[in-house]
Amino acid sequence: MNYSFRKKNKIVKYIVIHYTGMKNLKLAYQKLSYNRSNVSSHYLISRNGIIFNFVCPKFKAWHAGKSKWREHININDYSIGIELENRGHEYGYSNFTKKQYSSLKKIINFLKNNFYIFDKNIIYHSDISPNRKIDPGEKFHLYKIGISRFGYIEKKNKKKYSLNQMLSIYGFHIYYIKNFKKFCIKAVKRSLNYKKISPKISAKFIKDFNNLLFQ
Ligand SMILES: [Zn+2]
Repeated sequence: MNYSFRKKNKIVKYIVIHYTGMKNLKLAYQKLSYNRSNVSSHYLISRNGIIFNFVCPKFKAWHAGKSKWREHININDYSIGIELENRGHEYGYSNFTKKQYSSLKKIINFLKNNFYIFDKNIIYHSDISPNRKIDPGEKFHLYKIGISRFGYIEKKNKKKYSLNQMLSIYGFHIYYIKNFKKFCIKAVKRSLNYKKISPKISAKFIKDFNNLLFQ
């Protein structure tokens, strides 16, 4: 099992949601539990809702890779990783199952209570590594587990924001906004559950993005 100790000044703040992106559960299980894979995750949820716990959340698992979010870099230091079994865009991306959502809800509630994690800090791999990762993808619906990531934002705010400001409010690290803006836009579209994911900035996208953040 791959894991390391968390440094004393780096406390758990985030939950990062992933998909496995592998052909089947066995392969995903092996990858997440074999040392030579150089990756791991705290939890894996199979399509029929079985929860596997590989690494105790007190320790650091290696799920995020090169990543940045808000003011933080190397999100493994600050997060708990949850993998959802799904073949992913490469091998046949499918809807997540009801049983997966139900098990995910249980784990997240448990973690929220034990690590004091806010809804706004339940994030996606595609948010923290937008230039490299697209999981859990546009078929993942956070509302199905009763989480509202942007519920904390002041709703009466009528101020108009630029796209860059909106990307920053969403939570992207300034490095990604500057260097990989198109990938950030695609990540937002996945968050909005768009069927077609392109970096195109349409009026509809700006409206949807505003609604996501401020409504
Ligand atoms: Zn991932």
